[in-house]
Amino acid sequence: MHHFQYNDGRLCCEGVSIEAIAEQVGTPFYLYSHATLTRHFQAFDQAFEGMDRMVCYSAKANSSQAVLRLFAGLGSGLDIVSGGELYRGLKAGFDPATIVYSGVGKTAAEIDSALEHGIFMLNVESRPELELINARAGALGRCAPVAVRVNPDVDPRTHPYISTGLKKNKFGLSPQAAIELYRQARDMAHVDVKGIDCHIGSQITEAAPFRDALARLRELIEQLAREGIAIRVVDVGGGLGITYHDEQPPHPMDYGTAIREGLAGLDVRLVLEPGRVIVGNAGILVTRVLYRKDGDQKRFMVVDAGMNDLIRPSLYDAFHDLWPVREAAGGQRIRADVVGPICETGDFLSRDRDVPDAAPGDLLAVMSAGAYGFTMASNYCSRLRLAEVMVRDDAFGVIRERQTYADLIHGESIPDFL
Ligand SMILES: *Cc1c(COP(=O)(O)O)cnc(C)c1O
Repeated sequence: MHHFQYNDGRLCCEGVSIEAIAEQVGTPFYLYSHATLTRHFQAFDQAFEGMDRMVCYSAKANSSQAVLRLFAGLGSGLDIVSGGELYRGLKAGFDPATIVYSGVGKTAAEIDSALEHGIFMLNVESRPELELINARAGALGRCAPVAVRVNPDVDPRTHPYISTGLKKNKFGLSPQAAIELYRQARDMAHVDVKGIDCHIGSQITEAAPFRDALARLRELIEQLAREGIAIRVVDVGGGLGITYHDEQPPHPMDYGTAIREGLAGLDVRLVLEPGRVIVGNAGILVTRVLYRKDGDQKRFMVVDAGMNDLIRPSLYDAFHDLWPVREAAGGQRIRADVVGPICETGDFLSRDRDVPDAAPGDLLAVMSAGAYGFTMASNYCSRLRLAEVMVRDDAFGVIRERQTYADLIHGESIPDFL
């Protein structure tokens, strides 16, 4: 459920016409609905009603300041994977005590910054990382709250690039290695063993992999308890999928039930790290058709957004529905590839699909682009990073200006020897 709908043949976001925004802001741009973001966060949070829980929105899905500020205001915590995300989160107003930090490659500087700000928990992904955290905490006169990220070897049945809980993936530790690490952690002077963590992948559209992963965590928690190591926090990660096309992912309520049942009887605080499920369908990418081009074998529609703006189709072969911003009378569709201006064959938004029969100058809405859209955008081919806009009711605000050419060379310099 989202708030992008037609009104008299014009696509609107809540009460605002998308054509009107394009008129003022230019194209391409990302557009987010305040009501949808809010509703998705609240629906997710309510699925865990009555449980001792912290919903830590996963910053990497969409980390723009306005989006983060909105979630901070709704009582969300934050899941981060870099010092940059910590900086963004703090600037947007998150309480450090609600921030959890995952990732296999935390640097000493990033660990220091997390400890100095007093974040809730660091999710440790290897033994050398734990040793570094212990050393840095000692040097700073602090005690580091940690969880060990377990790789439960569960197949999330999603795209291989976003599957993270298989033995062959780089994330976390096997259950056996995790137990070993907990024993070492117990004897370290500057770490507080607080919790256990897992995150098995993204765009997961069934409840079973979550149930399986939680069952394995539970075995570990019970084994650790027998060794006198009390787990107080269970972080189940994120990964709940959304409907891009015809997927039927579990409703947050059903996901909530699976988690609730998996934790029944344990006296622990639950941490959740949802990203995509909150923001994915709350945002779209608006692009304008530049040219139509009929090749010998294929028809192409060249638009002004490329893989540097939305890389998901190229990277994951992801499906994004395309809606015409102005509904055509007959609603005609044609078979064409919708491609961007980048000099790569992989630069497409859709391939070999029937798409709205749009003419040069027409606007297209690339749906379900709120997650892993702008955060993965780049300046490839020296294209300006695009603008972002948020709508609330009848008003819209530019939450990020389109870059300028001067921004492109900001920070660059030409050494004297040239
Ligand atoms: C990316 C990520 C998430 C969020 O994943 P979604 O699929 O967007 O819900 C949560 N936790 C960790 C550790 C991640 O890397």
